[in-house]
Amino acid sequence: MTTKRPNHASPWVLDTRPLGRRPGSMKAYRLTAPVGDPMGIEVLAVPRDAEIDLDVRIESVAEGVLVSGTASGTAVGECARCLTEIRVPVSADLRELFAYPDSTTAATTDDDEIPRLIDDLIDLEPLVRDEIVLTMPLAPLCRPDCAGLCVECGERFDDLEPGHSHEILDPRWADLAAKFGVPGGSPTANN
Ligand SMILES: [Zn+2]
Ligand SMILES: [Zn+2]
Repeated sequence: MTTKRPNHASPWVLDTRPLGRRPGSMKAYRLTAPVGDPMGIEVLAVPRDAEIDLDVRIESVAEGVLVSGTASGTAVGECARCLTEIRVPVSADLRELFAYPDSTTAATTDDDEIPRLIDDLIDLEPLVRDEIVLTMPLAPLCRPDCAGLCVECGERFDDLEPGHSHEILDPRWADLAAKFGVPGGSPTANN
């Protein structure tokens, strides 16, 4: 996460000045912020213009301001097995130190390791984005035991009769199979 200059007017940006750099002083916020670029992965993301609920605390510590709390929203995507649209609640824990620019931490680390306070502001957006991406399953499912799609007809097994199958559609083929004692297939040469 790289630190760029926060926009004071953004709903994602918190002003830490009320903490007065007094270690131990803290403030809690409940905020709602709109998503710009979709937050997530290709197959599952909180879409543009959806909202993220933020329940965060900022706390002054010796080296900077510690942010902790949770970010939650609803991701939209498609089931990796049956391709149905899914909506999944997502919630990420946040815990990040934003270092004072003149601190030892800032002098001894890169800002992509530990972000900095810039103009005493904290931009929560990149932090929330990173943490939400980390919570995303690589293969989201509509339900854990989704049966997926029938490879023959492309229908969802969940929408089909139990035992749905395309074995031996043609009765003539069935007769032939029975005659040669081959269940549902043709004999293959064995080299
Ligand atoms: Zn599914
Ligand atoms: Zn089928």
